[in-house]
Formats: sequence, structure tokens, C-alpha cells
Amino acid sequence: MIYWCHKCNVPIFDKDMHKCSCDGRITKISEGSICNPVFKQERKLLSKIAGIDYTGKTLWYLGAAKYFVDGHVVKIPYRDWYKQKKHILCADDLRNDIEIERDYSPYYSVVEANEAYIKSKVFEAEQYITNTLAKYKPDNYIPTVSFSGGKDSSVVSRLVMDALQDNSVIHFFGDTTLEFPETYSYVQEKFRRENPRVPLIPSETENDFFKLCKVFGPPSQHERWCCTIFKTSNLNKEYDNLPGNSLTFLGIRHSESLARSRYERTQVKSKISSQINAMPIIEWTDYDVWLYILYKNLPINDCYQYGYKRVGCWCCPNNSDWSMMLTEIYHPNHMQRWKDMVYDFAYRTGKTDPDDYYEEGRWKTRRGASGLQVKNISIADTPCNLSDTARNVIIGKKISKDILEFFKPLGDLKVIEKTDMTYVSVYDKDKSEEYRKCFELRFKYGTTVIKVLPEERIDIPNLINRIKCQMRKYQFCIRCSACDSTCPHGAIDTIHGKYHIDETRCVHCKHCVAKFYNGCIMCDVLSSKKGTQ
Ligand code: SF4
Ligand code: SF4
Ligand code: SF4
Ligand SMILES: [Zn+2]
Repeated sequence: MIYWCHKCNVPIFDKDMHKCSCDGRITKISEGSICNPVFKQERKLLSKIAGIDYTGKTLWYLGAAKYFVDGHVVKIPYRDWYKQKKHILCADDLRNDIEIERDYSPYYSVVEANEAYIKSKVFEAEQYITNTLAKYKPDNYIPTVSFSGGKDSSVVSRLVMDALQDNSVIHFFGDTTLEFPETYSYVQEKFRRENPRVPLIPSETENDFFKLCKVFGPPSQHERWCCTIFKTSNLNKEYDNLPGNSLTFLGIRHSESLARSRYERTQVKSKISSQINAMPIIEWTDYDVWLYILYKNLPINDCYQYGYKRVGCWCCPNNSDWSMMLTEIYHPNHMQRWKDMVYDFAYRTGKTDPDDYYEEGRWKTRRGASGLQVKNISIADTPCNLSDTARNVIIGKKISKDILEFFKPLGDLKVIEKTDMTYVSVYDKDKSEEYRKCFELRFKYGTTVIKVLPEERIDIPNLINRIKCQMRKYQFCIRCSACDSTCPHGAIDTIHGKYHIDETRCVHCKHCVAKFYNGCIMCDVLSSKKGTQ
């Protein structure tokens, strides 16, 4: 609930706390939880949309195209204006005259009027941070911050360092390679200047997003392959290098999305995981975050001053029309590159109306292979005459030495190369924890048939399914590096030239085997079984 004090002329977030020090008239202005200051640069754009000069006024954004200005709630709908491409006409003006407010002093009265409220929020969050660290420190957990360059993680960064009285907490910057230029300059310059002692570890990837788009198609709301490749995989690798476990503080909030609304504040992922996630501001609203930024005079990413509500990947299929419009205004070259890619995809996959596909955002909702060259991901298996239980698994790629890497998760391999064939005995603990030979593989390099000979008391369908999952990896792997993050023991490495499993690290837990649909992300995105659009 958001109120307005007509005496102080500012939004009020806790009526009772404010009343203690002020006898002004207080009225409700919104039922919601959004109340963002609208900075000068965004006011210029809103003036153009509304045809009213807002540049010298104080505006508060209340969500759903509603603003509070001059004591009234007004709607400034932008969609028609955007669809008519009027933003293109004023893009040069806006882009060539960017004014960023570095000085938040015009907002001091807001902070003052809500000081008791924000202090109570900060006190609670800081206590949570110190208590959580105290709880896990004896188990060798080190505090770290997962830092994206957005406002929420900037707030958490400051809260953690204030609470722990430590200005050298390790920050992990998860660079998706798709960040706005403003995000890079915020992280590398502004944040760096403010926090010179913070070790800021960037995640690195050798993957090229645009090249992968040629294989997978543009990411859509249903096909978010890039999240696995550019976010999860990269960061997990960095956590492995810590000299201890990571107590990772994140800026995730319940109000961000339905999925996130169910998150626990502290997530102990699993017993083997060396990472615990802690979310100090999980219950904060948008206005809490903004109030804190103003209260602490926190420098933030310039994107928020243009009017972005969220700052993530600039081409994410989850970005709103409002974000897309801003990106067309402030980053026309990025947008052109994106448009070319989507058009190219539309032509390649025989879409009847590429203009419509792009302009109406239909690429955002595509599902499955969607006209990409569909791969047959099914792998056949037939009975083998070597024994009653033996099977022939027939794959679609000639067998080479590299295939052995993919059998490593299934057990310890004893390989005997003979002139007629290669014999691989696989040893592992069975269900009753007995370590023994579980099955044997026989194949000839250059052919496509693998003979599988299970020992007694082996669940044969399960074994064959696992082998098929691994063989799909062998067949389709383009080393997108997603598999690297599936191994809790850091045994998988796909970024140094080939798919490699370090047998000294692998404990045959088999987490990696069927982590993705049919074993490999490629199968998930390119399979013909899913619906097409
Ligand atoms: S573009 Fe969207 S889906 Fe892809 S990595 Fe970024 S946030 Fe995830
Ligand atoms: S097997 Fe598939 S999911 Fe795993 S790294 Fe290769 S392409 Fe990525
Ligand atoms: S997840 Fe890692 S440890 Fe487990 S089987 Fe796969 S490679 Fe081995
Ligand atoms: Zn007041």
C-alpha cells in the first residue's frame, strides 16, 4: 500500500510510522508495491509520449503505465505510440542528450519521511545476513554475493558488506555476454570505484551467443537454452574454485515472478552441494529497494534512469515491450543485429511472414525445433545373439576413441583393445552397494553398433536408457558447456577442446546422465517430438 503525505509532498510506505513525526494529511495513492522515482531522462521520454512537459516535475511510477504527478494518478499509455513507431522519430534527440542524475538530494525529503520504516527493514535484513553466516561459518562457508549489475543485487551487495562490516566480500559477476553496455560500465567503473577492495570475479564463457542462435534459434520464453549455457554453467564453475563452500547472497525477491514467489529465504540445495543460497531482501517490494537506494545514495546502473524496470540480457524473450522500445531508442545497433538474426531464422525456417514474426514478437513464444533442421534423436536397440540379455545399441555417428568419455559416469572402465574389437568392462556399485562388474561393452571403431552385455541382477531397461542418453551426447554435443555444471564434483569439462570427464573426480553418481531431456540440451531444443509453431 502506498500513501501520500500532502504536507511533506512525498510517498509514504508506512503510515503509522510517519504519523509519529508529522501531522500532515495522508491519503492512499496505490494498492500496489511499485513506487519508483522517475529520473530526468525517462521524464523526457514520457513528455514525448504524453505530449505534456514533465521535465521539471517530480514523477513516481506506480506500475501498469500509471504515474503519480502533481497530486494525481495519471495514466501514460505508450503501447500505441510505440506500435506506431513514434519512438523512432525522437530516438536521436533522446540518445544524443542523455542526462543522468548523480545527485539524489531532490529525494532526501522522501528518505526523511520514511526513515524509520527503511531503517527497520535494513535492521531486519542485516540481522538475517549475520545470523545466516554465523550458522554456516563453522562448516567452512564463505560469504559471497551473486552480482548482476541490476538494482536488487546492488542493494544486497551493500547490505551484506554493511552487515558483515567487511568491504572485501567476494562478488561473482555472472556475465551472460548479453548485458547492456551500461551494465558493463556500471560494474567495471562505478561499482569498482565505490568498492575498490571487492574481489569481483567475472564468469567467462567461450560460447558466442549469436553463433549458438544459428543452431538453437533465438531463445524464446519456452526455449531458454541460453540461461543454462550462459548463466548456470559459467557461475557454477567459478564457485568450484573457492577455497571453501559458498554462502551466496542473492537479490531475488518474491514479487518478481510467480516462480520466485515460492522460494524459501535460505536454500540449502543438497547435501553434496557446496553452495547455500541466501536471499536477504526476498520480501522487499520495489519501493523498499528504491527507498534503500535513495537512503544509501547508492550509485546504480544508468539503464534505470532511461526507464528500464529490470536490467538483464538486452535481447531476452522475457523483456517487455517497454524494454524493447527503450533498447530500440538507446541501442539501435544492438537491436538491428537482433532483428537481422530473427529475420534470418524466420527465412531459414520457412516462416510465411517474417515481418509479422519479428514485429508481433512471435519468436518470443516459439516452442521446440520450430522449423529448424530437426534431428532424429531416437537411438535404436535390438536383441543381440551373444546372450539372452545382450542388446545392440545402434547410434548415428561412427565410433571413435572419444566415445569412452561418455561411458565414464556409468562406472570404472577397464578397456582392452584387441584387433577384432574393443572390450570395455564397467565396474560400479550396484543397488546393494556391492562393487562388481556390472556390464560389458563391445564395439569396433568406425562402426555404429555397440554391444551391451549386462551381468546378472542389472536393471537392463534403465542401463540401456542411460547408455542412450550418453550416446546422444556423443552424437550431438556442440560443447555448449551446459553439462559442465551438471556435475557436483566438477568432473566434466567441455570447454577445453573436447567433452572430457576426469575419472579421478567422477564418483559415478550419474547426476549428469539424464539431467537434460534425453541427455543433451541439443536434443531438447532440436528434437522433433515437441510441438512446433
Ligand atoms: S536472454 Fe533471457 S533466457 Fe537467455 S540467458 Fe538471458 S535471461 Fe536467460
Ligand atoms: S552434451 Fe549437449 S548439453 Fe552437454 S555440453 Fe554437449 S551440447 Fe551441451
Ligand atoms: S555427475 Fe560427475 S561425478 Fe556424477 S557421474 Fe557425472 S561426471 Fe561422474
Ligand atoms: Zn508528512
